[in-house]
Amino acid sequence: MESRWDAGEAERFPGPLGQRVYSSRLLGREPSLVLHGGGNTSVKLRQQNVLGDEEEVLFVKGSGFDLASIDGNGFAPVRLGHLRALTRLQELDDVEMARQLRVAVLDPDAPAPSVEALLHAVLPHAYVDHTHSEAVLALTNTPSGDDHVRRAYGDLVVVLPYVRPGFALGRLCAEVLPQLGNETIGLVLLHHGLVSFGDTAREAYERMVALVSRAEDYLAANGATEGELEAAADVAQTAHGLQLAQLRARISAVAGSPLILRHDRDRRGLVFARHEDVASLSQSGPATPDHVLWTKRVPLLGRDVEAYADAYRAYFDAHAGEGVEMLDPAPRIVLDAELGLCSAGRNPEEADAAAEIYDRTIDVILRARELEQWQALSPAEVFDVEYWSLEQAKLRRPTHQLEGEVAVVTGAASGIGAACVEALLAQGAAVCGLDINAAVTKSSRCPAFLGIACDVTREDELRWALETCIHRFGGVDMLFLSAGVFPASRRIETLDLAEWRRVFAVNADAGVSIMRLAHPFLELAPNGGRVVVIASKNVPAPGPGAAAYSASKAALTQLARVAALEWGASGIRVNVIHPNAVFDTGIWTEDVIRARAEQYGLTPEEYRTQNVLQVEVASRDVAELAVAMCGKAFAKTTGAQVPIDGGNDRVI
Ligand code: ZN
Repeated sequence: MESRWDAGEAERFPGPLGQRVYSSRLLGREPSLVLHGGGNTSVKLRQQNVLGDEEEVLFVKGSGFDLASIDGNGFAPVRLGHLRALTRLQELDDVEMARQLRVAVLDPDAPAPSVEALLHAVLPHAYVDHTHSEAVLALTNTPSGDDHVRRAYGDLVVVLPYVRPGFALGRLCAEVLPQLGNETIGLVLLHHGLVSFGDTAREAYERMVALVSRAEDYLAANGATEGELEAAADVAQTAHGLQLAQLRARISAVAGSPLILRHDRDRRGLVFARHEDVASLSQSGPATPDHVLWTKRVPLLGRDVEAYADAYRAYFDAHAGEGVEMLDPAPRIVLDAELGLCSAGRNPEEADAAAEIYDRTIDVILRARELEQWQALSPAEVFDVEYWSLEQAKLRRPTHQLEGEVAVVTGAASGIGAACVEALLAQGAAVCGLDINAAVTKSSRCPAFLGIACDVTREDELRWALETCIHRFGGVDMLFLSAGVFPASRRIETLDLAEWRRVFAVNADAGVSIMRLAHPFLELAPNGGRVVVIASKNVPAPGPGAAAYSASKAALTQLARVAALEWGASGIRVNVIHPNAVFDTGIWTEDVIRARAEQYGLTPEEYRTQNVLQVEVASRDVAELAVAMCGKAFAKTTGAQVPIDGGNDRVI
């Protein structure tokens, strides 16, 4: 490992806290050191309080902050003396420790201090860095981890046996302080990670780099290098979308709510899933205990989700005390000889985090195996962290009504389609947006959005798009048909048949194609499949000059009604929305609106609100109705046609 310290860059972070921010970000940039909020750092300062008294203050990373992007506000200022005093207690339970950490915070607007704050407090050094270095984990997750560490480091580190992070670790650290000699530059926490310290941010950081490099060199000297997987990597990957969707349906059923299932097309996972020792290697436990929050203790091997859930319940029963509530028993990582690596989560971010963590875990496992033998923490110790209330707090957050569900929206680059994408994301759904306009691929950078440029009139492109969606999110639960064309006004006697067919191809035929292709996935939707068809006021109240548009939307509406009849028994609901005069879509420019208004002797404002309620209907209004149709309020409604037009006297 190389130091990334850049003196010029470091100068842009003034003061001791600035330096703390800079080197924290350097650590955060190394996925081999910290992943997804793991690791923490601190600096000790003397400060004057508002009364003019000098105080010793520990600035420690706030819980849930990511080192890679942290700034000064991500550190909680805590009274150092109080934290040190706490470690002199014989016992302190989780809840009380969390309360005491909060009590010691000097700024009511600061984040909650990291649960590892006590460890930072007891060490006498100004700067303390803590990571979950993979090289060190490969060394310590072995039967003779202790010996490997001593051989690799000599007197450079003090080795701590595994104890749970938090109070126990802080207290143990206080106990070993007398063992810290002049040569000591860090601590190795068996099965957990690494601590370095120093008088300056640079010293602590470069000691971390030096310690990690030693572990890497030791592994290399003992033949434990990466690359074992590549040699065996010549295998084809033939994962089929339907198999993934079936697997997701079963995982969601066991979880009790829909989960996103991401399929990793990377071959490493597949090769590991086919490894001759995968059963023993994968079923030992995580590389460092806090990974359990993302990956659960062990992956599901194969696809027997129900057996996994039974084993999870047995693990829970064996270790849970009174009054502990079981988390859902569904796996978060799947290793399957045909599918390779899949990861599950309540949303795409969680599934991505689990996939990244496990991908790196594979590497740690294989290096430990080459060195000696992979041996993770015992199930009891992993359980202890999994059900530790302070860690579970990291997972708690408000949930949205469509969380874990997947929607496909056609015509997603603009107008009502784009508004539907936004409304779905706001409700927590993962969204795959399709559009012939390639801009759709860049319309959102949110990990819950996947934009695919495709022509909805081509079945091969639709099939590929759905398959891509399944690999990313695991299924299709909701289908929003929003793509449509509105040709120039033309009377029937002048209507060109080619134009008629072109309009039908997009507005009606594409609907049949995508509904047919999506049907097997909609049938597997954990909360029941839903189709929302964006039709038009022109269906109940056609207008002159719009024969092709009105007839094609009427055909689409009739298709939806038949689908509601045919698919109802499988729990798939199909409903239709008839918007009118939605002016914030591509076809209505300010000039067109002005011209039309003049034609009727109205102002543009009057023209926009020419309906019973005299309100303007926006794309967002239509999108909100469309999303509501997927929720609880419409759970017992199918085959309905709902207008959203401010009230139309020709329809009422
Ligand atoms: Zn840690």
